Amino acid sequence: MSTLITNIGELVTNAPDEAGADGSGGAGGPGGAEGSGEAGGPGGAGGIRGAGGSAAGSGFAALSDAALVIEDGRIAWTGSASLAPAADDLVDAAGRAVLPGFVDSHAHLVFAGERGAEFAARMAGVPYTAGGIRSTVAATRAASDAELGGNLRRLAAEMLAQGITTFECKSGYGLTVSDEARSLALAAQVTPEVTYLGAHVVPPEFAADPAGYVDLVTGPMLDACAPHARWVDVFCERGAFDADQARAILAAGRLAGLQPRVHANQLGEGPGVQVAVEAGAASADHCSYLSGSDVEALASSGTVATLLPGVEFCTRQPYPDARRLLDAGVTVAIATDCNPGSCFTSSMPFCIALAVRDMRMTTQEAVWAATAGGARALRRDDVGRLRVGSRADLIMLSAPSHAYLAYRPGVPLVAAVWRDGRLLAGGA
Ligand SMILES: [Zn+2]
Repeated sequence: MSTLITNIGELVTNAPDEAGADGSGGAGGPGGAEGSGEAGGPGGAGGIRGAGGSAAGSGFAALSDAALVIEDGRIAWTGSASLAPAADDLVDAAGRAVLPGFVDSHAHLVFAGERGAEFAARMAGVPYTAGGIRSTVAATRAASDAELGGNLRRLAAEMLAQGITTFECKSGYGLTVSDEARSLALAAQVTPEVTYLGAHVVPPEFAADPAGYVDLVTGPMLDACAPHARWVDVFCERGAFDADQARAILAAGRLAGLQPRVHANQLGEGPGVQVAVEAGAASADHCSYLSGSDVEALASSGTVATLLPGVEFCTRQPYPDARRLLDAGVTVAIATDCNPGSCFTSSMPFCIALAVRDMRMTTQEAVWAATAGGARALRRDDVGRLRVGSRADLIMLSAPSHAYLAYRPGVPLVAAVWRDGRLLAGGA
């Protein structure tokens, strides 16, 4: 069974080595061929070259007047519409844009309760405190599996309808052995990208014994959680876990077969980014406050800087300096950080609009960061791009180009979503 989608006004492939093969592509900027490769190596392999033309390794590329063929859940062909082969099914895009599905590499979707009143108070001037996380922990512990699973599936469906075809999901609101393990078991039902975040905060019952909590996180809790997870994460920040604790948590996770990622440098400068790079983490997330050596460390490593602009929007904090990172050659991803406290959005287009408007990323850079960049942050090479052999995870916009995602903020532009080649949301 094959499907041809044709009359695509703009086909974002993120495959610069293929763009322009028919002479119509190459939107990724000069010399679109990506000499340094797409394999996720260190240094310039992931940065953005699309708009500026000088930074290493832009992967953004697009074809105009294009078509693609889906077969057996994979992309079987891309190119000029005039050269497209026949297929069993035909979809007429009527000039609209087709993009890779969004890859959300940072989300906290297993929780109960909500914190709308806290958000309203914060907007009225009440400072953000850690107390809110404790209320979510209490609600999560009190919830049944059915309640937690129902909330999780609702959020996953909400993401899918808005074009997120791959998402990561963390634990971190249970903070007991059984509540963390059941959070991860539930997450594993909806995504393969499951992250053990027992080291989110020290729960109230361990307030007087944080070292005892680290022993739990690296011991019995890890044993119960590792079978359900692919990743281990730690909130390395003043008031959460310090550098030595974070190193111990990541090392224990690695011994249990989990790959590291780190919540780093969200609230102030600190050791998080250095710990992440040192551990070979796939991603250092937040990166809102960075020293020069943090930027250098990221630029010379295979660690992606995952920026979460929805958090700064929802907490009225300063945005991370995306331009500084991109100009230094750091690979940048954008993710939602969907969670009930600091950022309760599941909309990647909203995050793209913020990245463009408030972080001065180009529309090409932002879309790359929300697709191929997210894939890089999850060490996935089968999603985030549309080239022969990629998974057929893609979206069609009710708009002629990717730029509309920022040009028309807040407007639901995702008209159709395919995952594994199947139309799962919207209609073509
Ligand atoms: Zn987070």
